[in-house]
Amino acid sequence: MSSKRGKLLIIGFGPGNEKHMTFRAREAFLECDSVIGYNTYVDLIKPILTDKQQIVRTGMTEEVSRAQEAVRRAEKGEVVAVISSGDAGVYGMAGLVYEVLMEKGWKEDEGVAVEIIPGVSAVNSCASLLGAPIMHDACTISLSDHLTPWELIKKRVEAAAQADFVIALYNPRSGRRTRQIVETQQILLRYRSPDTPVGLVKSAYRERQHVVLTDLAHMLDHEIGMLTTVIIGNQSTFFYDGKMITPRGYQRKYTLTAMEQSLKPHERLKEEAEPWALHQGIVEETESSKRTSTELAEEALALLHQETPTETVGINGLSVFKQEEIFEFAVSPGVIAKTFTAEQLLAIANVVGKEGTMEYTTDHRLKISVPTNDPTQIIDELNAQNLMLHPIGDVIQVKACDFCNGEKVDAIPYAEEIQQQLGGKSVAKQLNIGINGCGMACYGAVTDDIGIVFRKGKFDLFLGAKTIGRNAHVGQPVAEGIEREKIVPTLLAIIKQYEQEAIPNERFYKFFKRVGQVQGYPYREVPAQVVVDAVCGD
Ligand code: SAH
Repeated sequence: MSSKRGKLLIIGFGPGNEKHMTFRAREAFLECDSVIGYNTYVDLIKPILTDKQQIVRTGMTEEVSRAQEAVRRAEKGEVVAVISSGDAGVYGMAGLVYEVLMEKGWKEDEGVAVEIIPGVSAVNSCASLLGAPIMHDACTISLSDHLTPWELIKKRVEAAAQADFVIALYNPRSGRRTRQIVETQQILLRYRSPDTPVGLVKSAYRERQHVVLTDLAHMLDHEIGMLTTVIIGNQSTFFYDGKMITPRGYQRKYTLTAMEQSLKPHERLKEEAEPWALHQGIVEETESSKRTSTELAEEALALLHQETPTETVGINGLSVFKQEEIFEFAVSPGVIAKTFTAEQLLAIANVVGKEGTMEYTTDHRLKISVPTNDPTQIIDELNAQNLMLHPIGDVIQVKACDFCNGEKVDAIPYAEEIQQQLGGKSVAKQLNIGINGCGMACYGAVTDDIGIVFRKGKFDLFLGAKTIGRNAHVGQPVAEGIEREKIVPTLLAIIKQYEQEAIPNERFYKFFKRVGQVQGYPYREVPAQVVVDAVCGD
C-alpha cells in the first residue's frame, strides 16, 4: 500500500472542553493535514491545533458537503479530520462519511483509511453534571425533524415513555423549531407523572454551562435551546441534595415490616439482583440475540400492548409500565410447631404460583418471594391456614425447638412471649434468638446469636455465637439458672442495649466484643481457631 494513502479521522471531541477530550482525539488532531468542521466546533478545538493543520470551516447545515469535501481530500492522500462534538457516531458525522464512501464503492482494503475516534457524548457529559440520572436502561432521541419525519420521532417518544426508559433529548429546540419539545412533553405526560425529575443542561463543560433541575410539568418554564440536552427520568428517578439520581435496581422489594426495601450493599452485584452487573453487559449469543434490532423492538412493542404479568396502572386513563414489586417474607408452621399440613403447603404453593419462588432456609423456614402489588391478600390467605409469616432482613428471628413435640411444656409460654415481644423487630443486623426446652439443646440454641436453654426449671443464657464463617463458635455461657420470670425482661434489656448502641450492620457477636459487656455480662475473648482452607466460598 502506498504511503500516500489518505486517511479520514472522524473525531468526537467530547462536550467541548479540552480536559474531556480523549487522549486519542487530541493526538489525532496533531496527525492530520486538515480539519473540517462546523464553525463553532472548529473554534472549540482551535487552541490545540498547530500551524500545520489547514482549517476548513462550514456552516451547520452543510453536513453532506462537509463529508464530501473530507472524502475528496483523503482520496488525494491527505489525512483529514472530520469533527463532531460529543461522539461522532451519535447524531454526528461518522454515518454520513460512511454513506459518502459507500456511494463511491469504497472498500476498507483498497480505499482511504478510516478511523472513528469515540468521544464523550452529551448524554454522558450532561448526566455527569446532573448526578447519575441515566444509570439504567435509557435512550437518546433527537427532536430534530431535519432528517427524520416528525411522526416517527413522536412514535419513538411514545414507545420510550411507555417502556419507562430514561430519555435524553438531543436537539430539543431551535429558533425555528419550537413545537416539538411542547408535543414531546404532552406525550410524556400521558405516561409519566408530572413530578418526574427532568434535568436541563446547556453547554456542558463549555463557557456558558447552565444546569437546571425541574420536573416534567415545569420543564418548559425554563430556557431550552440548541445547546441544551434534556434528560427525563424514569419512574424511579429522584432528586437528592440537588442531584438527579436513577437507582440501578429493577425491582422494589418489600417485606412484612418495611413496605419498601432498597437493595442493601451486600445484595448488590449479585447476579439475581442486578443481572447485568457481573458480565458487564456481555451476554452469550442466544436465539434472541440473533434477531435484528428491529425485530426485537417490534416484539417489545407488541409485548407492551399485550397483557403481561407485570402490573400496569393508569395515569390519565392510559396503561403505563410499572416497576415490578416483589413481596418477600418467610413462612413457617409456627415458632414451636415444626410440621406443615398438606393444606398449608397447598396454600403456600397457590400464593407462590409460577412467578414466585420458595426457598428452604437454614432457619427451617420457607422464604417466599412473589411479584405482587397486593401483599395483604397473600397475608390473609396464609394466615387463614394458621401459618406464621415472618419478616426477613435485619430483624429478630425467634427460633424454638419443638419441645419434644410439645411434651416439655414448661418453657413454651416463655418462647411464645419472646416471639410476641421480639419476633420480627428491626435491628442493626439479623439476630437469631434460639430457645431450647432442655439441656440437650438439640435445636442448637447455643449456636444462635442469643441462646436460652431451659434446664432444671430455670434458664441458661448464651451470648454472642458466631454462626457462620471459618471461625464460627458457639455463644458464651454467661449465666446459669436465671429465674423464669426474669428471662423475658433480661432479653428485652439485652436487645434494648443492642438497639441503642449497635452501629449499623453490626452483628450481635461483634457488638458484644466491641462494647465488652451486655447488661453486666462480660465478654470473654474466644480462643483463636486453627485456620484451614475454605472448601467453598471465600
Ligand atoms: N454528537 C453529539 C450530538 C450532536 S447533536 C454528541 O454526541 O453529543 C447536537 C445536540 O447535542 C445539541 O442540540 C444538544 O442537545 C447536544 N449537545 C451537544 N453538546 C452538548 C453540550 N456540551 N451540552 C449540552 N448539550 C450538548
